[in-house]
Amino acid sequence: MEDCIFCKIIAGEIPSTKVWEDDNFFAFKDINPVAPVHVLVIPKKHIQSIADLTPDDVAVAGKMLYAIQKVAQVMGLDKDGFRVVFNTGEKAGQTVHHMHAHILGGKEMAWPGV
Ligand code: 5GP
Ligand code: ZN
Repeated sequence: MEDCIFCKIIAGEIPSTKVWEDDNFFAFKDINPVAPVHVLVIPKKHIQSIADLTPDDVAVAGKMLYAIQKVAQVMGLDKDGFRVVFNTGEKAGQTVHHMHAHILGGKEMAWPGV
């Protein structure tokens, strides 16, 4: 996708602080962190959001949860716990329309927090 900032980050056209990558996913630090650890995990395939998943995307969507586990391990969050957020669509505050998981950790978090 030409005008997608996350596709440009995957391509290395926009710099980012990469923390993990495999064939299908790329993980990097959020530029505006809201927790001591705040990492974004994105599929290398441009998918706009959970609301736009098609049957062809089911395998990558499933693998994304396992990628999140790997990133949590790399960031040292797997023992203490972490939160995963997928903002989806306008009312949820999605600002970048390339599906992404926020991994948040490194602090005590309240729930419900919406
Ligand atoms: P959303 O609000 O769409 O769920 O989250 C988008 C996230 O992307 C925000 O937390 C924002 O700080 C982050 N972000 C936007 N542009 C960039 C960028 O160029 N680099 C990095 N590392 N993060 C970005
Ligand atoms: Zn994209």
